[in-house]
Amino acid sequence: MNAETRTLIIGIDGAPFSLIQELAEQGVMPYLSSLRADGIFRPMRSSIPAVSSVSWSSIITGCNPGEHGIFGFTEMMPESYVMSFPNFLSLKRPPFWAEQAGKCVIINVPSTYPPQPLNGCHISGFVSPRLDKAVYPVSELAKLEAMGYEVDLDVAKAKQSDLVLYKQLDETHAKREELADYLWDKYDPAVFMMVVTGSDRIGHLGWHHWEEESHPSHQQFLDYFRRVDETVARFARRLGPRDTLVVLSDHGMERTTQEVNLNAHLIQGGFLKLGGEDKKKYNRIQAGSTAFALEDGRIYLNERGRFPNGSVDESEEDALLDELTAFFAEMRVEGAKVVAKIHRREEIYWGEHLSRAPHLVLVANSGLKLMGRLTTELYQPSALSGMHNEQAFLLVRAPRAEEIVPEAPTVEDVVPIITQ
Ligand SMILES: [Zn+2]
Repeated sequence: MNAETRTLIIGIDGAPFSLIQELAEQGVMPYLSSLRADGIFRPMRSSIPAVSSVSWSSIITGCNPGEHGIFGFTEMMPESYVMSFPNFLSLKRPPFWAEQAGKCVIINVPSTYPPQPLNGCHISGFVSPRLDKAVYPVSELAKLEAMGYEVDLDVAKAKQSDLVLYKQLDETHAKREELADYLWDKYDPAVFMMVVTGSDRIGHLGWHHWEEESHPSHQQFLDYFRRVDETVARFARRLGPRDTLVVLSDHGMERTTQEVNLNAHLIQGGFLKLGGEDKKKYNRIQAGSTAFALEDGRIYLNERGRFPNGSVDESEEDALLDELTAFFAEMRVEGAKVVAKIHRREEIYWGEHLSRAPHLVLVANSGLKLMGRLTTELYQPSALSGMHNEQAFLLVRAPRAEEIVPEAPTVEDVVPIITQ
């Protein structure tokens, strides 16, 4: 990044490498197809777990979760079992744009609410509870309101019918593009980053529209990605030969069949004891419990000193982790093993926030989503069509792209590419 060149980054949230490759080959995404020939197009490993909040935090900081401090969409507040939802203020490392000399326009990057002052403009993305606090500088708010800009779909409504889903996807995308045009012209930024998030919503609600070619909504699924391709082309064509273009996703997507309730398995295995009535509250965790789970496969030891009913001393941790590892390796649903990989935190995380990390992170076999519900029901059919996996993609067109893109990139490698 330097003053004379421009960097354009377009995120397509939740789009796996395999989907982009197939859509490019089928002619649904002709511009991305041409970029594959001009640049480097590779699978990119998502964060562990493969969740937008963790992954985008690594993409924009270049740091590991142990350094930036975001381990999931949810987190326990210190010395309690009360759930909190980390936001941009929880991020412990600066995003790359904080150190930029030139103007930056940042639009709809997940987990960047509320935006912080920068040289340029920042419209934060999912989750942005209030539009008026999602805009920096606030002087741009009137423009967004006049446009009827929406940060996200109304997912509850979109779940009601495919017609509503695709109508909302279309409207939200059109307004995001209109906003992007306006901000590009107004700021003439050195760095422009925009994330499309409809791609993740369509993946969760309509992955079967993609996989089942005879599905009545198959064509609409393709049309949406055709539209995204046109958006990439619209902005990428404004770049010169020395500029950098990065198109990427934060994680992949695949069909989901069952949701596995890890806490129910921990109860059955004698690791977790629940009291109380309120189904959703983790303060039902009783003394004597040794482990519990939060969503997306995060397993926490019930540490003494860290949690109110903590029962596990430091000296017991290693043996307990061995026991849990053996337990999860054998965990089955309808006879089939659930877990594909079990990561100990020291193997995947480093940095000053390591002690807040989950002790284990489980990665499930295909189609199984690992839930953190407090229930005794071991598993249930999934209410959604698609779930995340770790297969993101990275496409880079830049001078020296061959040298700067690693052979097997991860989300932590993006900052070094764009700040070269
Ligand atoms: Zn998602």
